[in-house]
Amino acid sequence: MVISGFSGAGKGTLVKGLLSRYDNYALSVSMTTRAPREGEREGVDYFFTDREKFEETIRKNGLVEYASYCGNYYGTPRAYVEEQMEAGKNVILEIEIQGALKIKQKFPDSLLIFVTPPSAQELKKRLEKRGTETPEVIARRLARAVEESEGIEAYDYIVVNDHLETCVEEIHRLTEAAAMTPARSKAFIHKIREELRGFEKGAN
Ligand code: 5GP
Repeated sequence: MVISGFSGAGKGTLVKGLLSRYDNYALSVSMTTRAPREGEREGVDYFFTDREKFEETIRKNGLVEYASYCGNYYGTPRAYVEEQMEAGKNVILEIEIQGALKIKQKFPDSLLIFVTPPSAQELKKRLEKRGTETPEVIARRLARAVEESEGIEAYDYIVVNDHLETCVEEIHRLTEAAAMTPARSKAFIHKIREELRGFEKGAN
């Protein structure tokens, strides 16, 4: 599953809420060339690297997707995602829209959720309050939000992050509902069809 949203929409906090409350989620840690923010930890928030190493990882097919965002590379390491999917986890990718669209192409059964604050004013307020970016970076991120807002229709669901607890529950319910669509229940459908055919054969 992909969780996207404007910078400052509160995706990180929401994902932490999901992980702490339910054990069927696994969070993919991305690789980035952006510098760490104060308090960010290597291997927890991101794998921080330089452009050269990032490009080498692309060449070695080590990323499921990658994109350029506000002058830096961001990408999803392949190994962890594949391993956790094998283990039956809902793997969360907290990524921006270009990456989200690539994931939908590669994994048509992926679930794309777009998180947004209730208003643009609230978004600006949250970015300023976070205090981790310079006014120039905030301005760039708000400009990028305009572009991102053009792509919201490509997502399966839009969730307004007004109240954290409610929002975590909404995302969890959407994930559970998505798992019940026929497209995501192929193994079960195949199994019950085979069982029914077994009856038919028995009757003949
Ligand atoms: P930030 O610098 O605020 O941590 O992240 C900037 C943007 O990059 C956010 O929208 C975030 O979701 C996105 N992002 C983080 N990791 C990845 C990734 O692996 N791939 C892509 N495509 N976007 C990412």
